[in-house]
Amino acid sequence: MRPILAACFGLLNPPPDLKVWEWAEKYRRLGKDVTAIPGRYSVDATPYQREPQDSFTDPEVQVTVMQWASRLGKTETMNNLEGFTIDVNPRGILVVYPTLDSAKKWSKEFFVPMVKATPRLQGKIKESRARDANNTILSKQFPGGKISAIGANSPSGFRQIQAPVVICDEIDAMDNGAEGDPIALAFKRADNYRDSVQVLSSTPTVKGASRIESWMDKSDKRHWFCPCPECGEFQVLNWSQVEIPEGKPEEARIKCQHCEARLDDEQRVTMVRAGEWRATAPFAGVRGYWLNGLNTLFPAKKGFRNKLHQMAAEAAEAKASGEAAMQVWTNTFLAESYEPPAEKVEANSLLERCEVYGGDDENAPLLPRYVLALVASVDVQGDRLECYVEGYGLKDECWAIEYRRIIGDPTRDEVWAQLDTLLETAYAHPCGGVLKIGRVCIDSGFKTDRVFDFVRRRQPRVVAIKGASARGALPFQVSPKPNKQGCRLYLLGTDTLKDLIFSRLRLAEPGPRYLHWPKGFGFDDKYFDQLTSEQRRAEMRDGFPRYVWFLPPGKRNEGLDLKVYSVAAWEIYKYHMRPNMEKLAAEMEARAAEPREGGEQEKKSAPAKEYQLKPHVEPKPEQEKPKPRAFVPRRKGGFVGGWK
Ligand SMILES: [Zn+2]
Repeated sequence: MRPILAACFGLLNPPPDLKVWEWAEKYRRLGKDVTAIPGRYSVDATPYQREPQDSFTDPEVQVTVMQWASRLGKTETMNNLEGFTIDVNPRGILVVYPTLDSAKKWSKEFFVPMVKATPRLQGKIKESRARDANNTILSKQFPGGKISAIGANSPSGFRQIQAPVVICDEIDAMDNGAEGDPIALAFKRADNYRDSVQVLSSTPTVKGASRIESWMDKSDKRHWFCPCPECGEFQVLNWSQVEIPEGKPEEARIKCQHCEARLDDEQRVTMVRAGEWRATAPFAGVRGYWLNGLNTLFPAKKGFRNKLHQMAAEAAEAKASGEAAMQVWTNTFLAESYEPPAEKVEANSLLERCEVYGGDDENAPLLPRYVLALVASVDVQGDRLECYVEGYGLKDECWAIEYRRIIGDPTRDEVWAQLDTLLETAYAHPCGGVLKIGRVCIDSGFKTDRVFDFVRRRQPRVVAIKGASARGALPFQVSPKPNKQGCRLYLLGTDTLKDLIFSRLRLAEPGPRYLHWPKGFGFDDKYFDQLTSEQRRAEMRDGFPRYVWFLPPGKRNEGLDLKVYSVAAWEIYKYHMRPNMEKLAAEMEARAAEPREGGEQEKKSAPAKEYQLKPHVEPKPEQEKPKPRAFVPRRKGGFVGGWK
């Protein structure tokens, strides 16, 4: 075939210095099903796509990061890289999506249509056929290499593949697997190649848990600077510049940051077309491109006067639809991570709502009338034991009773003897009789052997616990067999318990799950500072943000730890107590028809017909055996212990 004719059919070898976007302009055809602008690929249609594609193959750049809004064409730029590699510089390509399903979807909806629409690629990649191991939905061979797509959720998938070109898309929806960060695993596959190409792309998710945002932070943070058509000053378009007259999204305008001219959609398009990428941080191997939806050059949907009209209408709709919609809009249009509303509970407001109950003697607190059961928690410190006692009524309504310190070296017996005395306290109940502490959780993280020694002879009333926030969503799990010190260890889902505690702290009205504190009895401002010391931070799990608690530097959290252990003690105890509780409360309700006195101090004089609380009978260890909760890591779903 003569060269000219061959060139007409696009069969000549491309020149070796061809750039990715040049290859795409020359050879790619876009079907209607993959893009808003079908036909030949033209980088001029979306000029912000040009430089990132140069960055892919730039020998100075190790990693190219794209934190873009949806529908700006970032998948097209990566498709171009794949097509270019197959055609011009054939070698292994690894494409990573969050899951196997999303990898398949990419193959069916983006990659295969590109091959079909691009004559240059058609001859090199065959259609996938059954029983052809070299050519499946997720793996396709071509002369000189192979393109493989995997889901980040199957770490074994990483081991098979060596590839100098690694493309990770939707990285914010990826989980840390058992083998660690999927991005690190993917990049390892390219370790042995000097001229590797590494691309990361995603819309962001939640502040503090966004992979793309943390990679963007390592980059030179390039933004698309556009010149104002009125004053010529360059600026990065952001949403705070958009002015929307009340109820008239069609009249939305963008206010220039410099001359304050009100720019319409046509002017917006003009300035975006004239834009350029400018770095806003020093370059150290990672090049980052950040782009929000205000820069789109794709046409407006039907029913809108122009794109700015559509943006204004969609923003209003997201705002009206609530927090979830606002997060989607923030992530996919603004290309910004979302920060959920603050969860902070103020220590002061809790101190102020302390009630008068417990009587006059700080050393012998009286119980409030509605308390039906008592639990306690113990934390071991270097020079003391900290103890916290609380009571529960129906529906998890909770009254703090006392907070005490037993000062002394916890390696000495007398300290533990004092603890024994405290745990044996018989608390006077206003309905007559006494209540004793039914369950005690002791943290075994410190002076472990002493704790187990104390616990062993007092099980199951006293149990050893260990915080295990990463263990999944259960409030607690118990080891099926005793350890070598003879103790069954309870692992607490501390993040789950803290979520529960903070949701209860925010309840304002006494009733189910409400937390009461007495004035005094150890509950001072320091205690409430500790109780509210921790903050929530989002992390991604299963593609969704999950909140974990952390202690800001310089803060103390013993008060919160004790509360976590005592809530766990109640969760453990109420499993055995619930039948008693219902009966007890029903009897009391029938008897005490008088209205509740809120947080007022209970009358010391008992009513005429005195109700005698039966001393609590401990369930014997044998009774517990038929229903052991197995130690099942990461189990999800319902919980048999009456978890609410
Ligand atoms: Zn201007």
